[in-house]
Amino acid sequence: MVIVGQGLAGTLLGWELVRRGQRVLLVDEGAAVSSSKVAAGIVTPITGKRLALGSEVGAFLEEAWASYGAVARVLGRAHFHRRAQVRLFRGEEEPRRFAVKCAAADFAGHVAPERAEPLVDLALFQGSGRGFEMVTSGWLETRAWLEDSAAWFAERGLLQRRAVNAAALVPERWGVRLEDGSAAAAVIFCEGAAARSNPWFPWIAWKCAKGEILTIEAPALAAERRIVNAGGWLLPVDGAGTFRTGSTYGWDQLDEQPTEAARALLEERLSRLLRVPWRVVGQEAAVRPIIHQSLARLGRHPVHPTLAFFNGLGSKGVLHGPRYARQLADHLVDGAPLPLEADVAGN
Ligand SMILES: Cc1cc2nc3c(=O)[nH]c(=O)nc-3n(C[C@H](O)[C@H](O)[C@H](O)COP(=O)(O)OP(=O)(O)OC[C@H]3O[C@@H](n4cnc5c(N)ncnc54)[C@H](O)[C@@H]3O)c2cc1C
Repeated sequence: MVIVGQGLAGTLLGWELVRRGQRVLLVDEGAAVSSSKVAAGIVTPITGKRLALGSEVGAFLEEAWASYGAVARVLGRAHFHRRAQVRLFRGEEEPRRFAVKCAAADFAGHVAPERAEPLVDLALFQGSGRGFEMVTSGWLETRAWLEDSAAWFAERGLLQRRAVNAAALVPERWGVRLEDGSAAAAVIFCEGAAARSNPWFPWIAWKCAKGEILTIEAPALAAERRIVNAGGWLLPVDGAGTFRTGSTYGWDQLDEQPTEAARALLEERLSRLLRVPWRVVGQEAAVRPIIHQSLARLGRHPVHPTLAFFNGLGSKGVLHGPRYARQLADHLVDGAPLPLEADVAGN
């Protein structure tokens, strides 16, 4: 099987198919910027002002740990880490909402026992330091995971660096004829936001969003090893005072150009969060592949079943990707049914 795109989606699917003994070839154009390469890689079980516990978050988390763990055993390096995440309260409503939500056992299971003292050092952070700590939060070193996975596939001749012209593929009943004359049993498109111009899946209702992230140096915060979230998030990446912080959402200009406006917004958020100085040392932008209802879509083309699709991981690719990749692999190899709401053929 040929997988087009070696982002998070294509790589996760590649590992699932290899685990099932399938012959795979990952083909990726090798662009310097992609959503997966720019992503912070954070897993946040409780999100937004409503403190919403993601749907089936327990099942997604379990599969994420199993999937990244299995890859770590092959690569000899773990890229997915448990990282406590402090969520600082904003406004009067959040503490009340939190108290109500904590009554539910499934919610409380993601939260550390309450503490009387502030959750962060008030000499470093603004505000009262009141909030809660998510214990099931995590972090994937996304870029390193993609690179190490790519090296593994490349060493075995299972990765090619080139662009695939989807329009030039010829789907047949037995498989797919590729542009260079070779053949594959199936071609699975994992192209991220670039799939908006894929001619085989024109019905997809895209809602892509550009996102920007800053990298900052704040030496005074070097001892903070948790993710701190207060509207935006601050992710420690090296234990030496380097953090990533983000991110923005923009729907008008879907390109990969960092903007002054996003930098100003992110720095303004930082100034409301931090009491200590920081220095911006990097800024990146990419387009998140989001599909209507922020739900991934996967499965075979309804008319050309040798063409398949895996996309729409949106803002939660690290958490949702492993389970969907497993479900798609089960479907492609064993004909297992897909979750109805995610089946690309019906959505
Ligand atoms: C600023 C920002 C912050 C984010 N933070 C997080 C986060 O903290 N946690 C989280 O879970 N998610 C986060 N995300 C979202 C995450 O990046 C996505 O969910 C996920 O990475 C999407 O992966 P993908 O493989 O579908 O797409 P992509 O990463 O876009 O990968 C697609 C790949 O296919 C290649 N390609 C496309 N078309 C072709 C073709 N025709 N031929 C060959 N190659 C092709 C591309 O070059 C690319 O390498 C963030 C995204 C952004 C932009």
